[in-house]
Amino acid sequence: MTKKLLIVGGGYLGAELAKSLDNDLDVTLIDQRDVFVHAPAMIRALVKPSLLDRVLLPYDSLLAKGKFVKAKVIKVNENSVTLEDGTQLDADFIVIATGSTNGVAFKPAGDSIDDFRAVITEIHAKLQTAKSVAIVGAGAVGTEMAGEINSAMPDKNITLISSESSLFAQMPSKFGTAITSKLKQAGVDIKFGVRVNDLKSLTEPYSGSLSLSDGSTITADLIIPAIGSRAVSELVDELPNVSKENNGRVTVDKYLRPSSYANVFAAGDVASNGDAMTIVAVGRQVPWLTNTLKALAAGTSLDQLKPYTPWKKAPLFLPLGPNKGNSYMVIATFGNWVTSKIKGKDLFITKYRKLFGLKH
Ligand SMILES: Cc1cc2nc3c(=O)[nH]c(=O)nc-3n(C[C@H](O)[C@H](O)[C@H](O)COP(=O)(O)OP(=O)(O)OC[C@H]3O[C@@H](n4cnc5c(N)ncnc54)[C@H](O)[C@@H]3O)c2cc1C
Repeated sequence: MTKKLLIVGGGYLGAELAKSLDNDLDVTLIDQRDVFVHAPAMIRALVKPSLLDRVLLPYDSLLAKGKFVKAKVIKVNENSVTLEDGTQLDADFIVIATGSTNGVAFKPAGDSIDDFRAVITEIHAKLQTAKSVAIVGAGAVGTEMAGEINSAMPDKNITLISSESSLFAQMPSKFGTAITSKLKQAGVDIKFGVRVNDLKSLTEPYSGSLSLSDGSTITADLIIPAIGSRAVSELVDELPNVSKENNGRVTVDKYLRPSSYANVFAAGDVASNGDAMTIVAVGRQVPWLTNTLKALAAGTSLDQLKPYTPWKKAPLFLPLGPNKGNSYMVIATFGNWVTSKIKGKDLFITKYRKLFGLKH
């Protein structure tokens, strides 16, 4: 009999893994929402909300054989999961892929896509009337946000606030320097090495003032917190022998297992395995999980299989609007043309629409 795989969470990890094992295992993909949210496009959706129609992707046509279940999972057991309505679904293998949350402008806060659309539309309206915008946090999301607003609404006074002394300090210095000079040339003010003392919300944009650790104050019509992702990992709390990091990610072993349950795996943003919280990391984990689960289903024992190894130096694509930006791949930093071609123009929208069985 075909082995049963339950995947909890239909984000990048869950959706891509479900699709890649659709022909080999009896796959059930469970998500609390009936629509997949393509995160990289959300930054541009804030300056162009009409984009939402192309980047909120229904699960209906993702799987040919497998099943999609819209439900919230409330418990993971050794060989089953329990849904909010009490239904229990059995499995030979379970993959926990519950991902992460971010600011309300970037990922839905709950299970309602209508509420998410309303939030984006409201922030867009505030952005349109704002003269000044302060973005708190200069990771990939905050920096892209600065570039995206600057590109679509060049009249805004934008301040990007970073607690570090340079952008992308973990990357080769050429990368951060190139992004910094492009933003500065475009008129974006970057404050380095300062912390905000009184951020009123970690997730919701608001208007007001920010007192900075260097003693200065910034007043902005719109303050956008972009301070990073937090793993959604409550489901692992009741599993035996789990440990978590401060950002909520659950530690996994070299076979991506978070607990002493042999057939329960965790991957994507929820799991700490040496990779960053990125789709680029998911792109490495899905082929490994696909091969591993196929082999296990065929009767191979796990200790005969290769452990997962994380990216040594993952690529990074950082558009500043559709036409500018920088990318890092393998050992080199690339400029506007390559970044625009790979990500800036299309934001991988065509790829994900295709995955979900939708036309260009
Ligand atoms: C604005 C933004 C832009 C980004 N751009 C990029 C980029 O360009 N490149 C890149 O590499 N990375 C990017 N990232 C990071 C990327 O979005 C994440 O790494 C990615 O979403 C992780 O995928 P995931 O499947 O682990 O989790 P998620 O995408 O967070 O998906 C988790 C899913 O689990 C579901 N879920 C959670 N709990 C339950 C439950 N109890 N029951 C049922 N369902 C549940 C959720 O509804 C959700 O659909 C970006 C992030 C943001 C916020």
